[in-house]
Amino acid sequence: MSLKYIFITGGVVSSLGKGLTAASIALLLESRGQKIAMLKLDPYLNVDPGTMNPFQHGEVYVTDDGAETDLDLGHYYRYTNSPLSKASNATSGQIYETVIRRERKGDYLGKTVQVIPHITDEIKQRIIACGKQDKDIQVVFVEIGGTVGDIESQPFLEAIRQFRNERREDCINIHLTYVPYLKAAGEVKTKPTQHSVQILRQIGIIPDMILCRSEHALSQDLKDKIALFCNVAQEAVFDEKDVEKSIYEVPIDLYRQKIDEMLCKFLHLRCEKADISRWEKMLQTIFHPKGVVTIGIAGKYLDHQDAYKSVFEALHHGAIHADMKLNIKKFESEKITKEENLSKLFSECDGILVPGGFGERGWEGKILAAQYCREHKLPYFGICFGMQVMGVEFARHVLSFKDANTTEIDPRTTHPVVSLLAEQQGIENMGGTMRLGAYSCQLKEPSKAFKAYGKKLISERHRHRYEFNNKYKELFEKEGFLFTGTLENGDLCEIAEIKDHPWMLGVQYHPEFKSKPLDPHPLFRDFIAAAIRYRDAKNG
Ligand code: GLN
Repeated sequence: MSLKYIFITGGVVSSLGKGLTAASIALLLESRGQKIAMLKLDPYLNVDPGTMNPFQHGEVYVTDDGAETDLDLGHYYRYTNSPLSKASNATSGQIYETVIRRERKGDYLGKTVQVIPHITDEIKQRIIACGKQDKDIQVVFVEIGGTVGDIESQPFLEAIRQFRNERREDCINIHLTYVPYLKAAGEVKTKPTQHSVQILRQIGIIPDMILCRSEHALSQDLKDKIALFCNVAQEAVFDEKDVEKSIYEVPIDLYRQKIDEMLCKFLHLRCEKADISRWEKMLQTIFHPKGVVTIGIAGKYLDHQDAYKSVFEALHHGAIHADMKLNIKKFESEKITKEENLSKLFSECDGILVPGGFGERGWEGKILAAQYCREHKLPYFGICFGMQVMGVEFARHVLSFKDANTTEIDPRTTHPVVSLLAEQQGIENMGGTMRLGAYSCQLKEPSKAFKAYGKKLISERHRHRYEFNNKYKELFEKEGFLFTGTLENGDLCEIAEIKDHPWMLGVQYHPEFKSKPLDPHPLFRDFIAAAIRYRDAKNG
């Protein structure tokens, strides 16, 4: 059977949760036995989000093959088994870069290079390439970033119009829209949806299905009205109301409305019934936890709710595994100072996590948090920057190297315990040049890391320029800072642990990218378990 394509556009406003919706629908088709692949098309001109400030863009998600991508790929990973690689995310910047490079080589044989057909052809190539990642793929989901009507997304919409025209039987369009409730009028309004569908139709795209984001479920009358005005079948209007407790409710909500059956009908897919029992069971745990565990996060992008998206989710997965509700306390690390009473500040926390980061702001606050955890035996989990924090803190307060630092913060320190990776010397371009993607790591036995993973060789994803300075390794180990994971066939330090501490562990990589609600990452699982033990001891 030919490959099927599902295009997802967004209308009215941004931040509707298109990625989450795409991932949820993909999960349903996957649970009906379909092998799926997912592609995010981003209309901005950056080649990738790697150079963007997390305040602008939220988290940068990294794939095994080292692509720095949109955070929606994190949703894809958590909900589905779609392959994720450089072929799973394309931006306007990448598309134009490819076309312009080809033009410079003379590949267009004297033709005028234009948005149609050259840019749209390149977009169509990316869609095809995504479906070729694995020979068994049956359905490709394509999510178009931004909102219909944006100038910059027009080439993408034109490309999917053409794509569909070339494969009429194999494509469908889902339009995710916003249906607001006007409090003053006491009414739900469908007009913005009608208008955004009009824009789509002007471009030549007629949605097959409308999915309405709304605060509450919509009445059948309202759905019928949307069907009439937007020219879709009555049974093809679905609502996606705000979830009550967890984003993991979305697939179940859509399943109850039988969206997967409708999709199979539209695409003539013959497949088994969906089996979502494991997902439903996991939701029951979320709804009926046995207790609460509180984790503090000391970072600097905490105001942006998506900047540490995968970290928050991975902590949730650990908590779900332990039948607990997760309570997150956010600490702007800039505000953690010597003047603060840290015992009071962290009194509610059962563990502290310091996530990845860059630059000086808030750095000293993170060191204080790590020092507090080490000295008070409060569980600590350091990710990337958070592991470097752990090393600098140890150097300063245990080894008494008063000005120890990472050269990222103080290039002139007399004790550069964290310094630029050798391979990074001389690199000037900022985009795509960090140590990126999956590397294998060899674990030492016994160690907390080995206990968590249960095997000696692991693979994790990286995104950094600085690294523990091996000149200090022996000195650190002698005093109880243990290096329990090292790059396979190399000497880069990937995991560090504090001896004689219930659970203080740092990793140079990003384990959060590989955690799923049904398959929590072992380190997040064990960190949460340690936090629960700390909580129980605290409560006597
Ligand atoms: N800034 C640090 C480095 O480049 C840590 C990066 C990170 O936390 N992702 O090594």
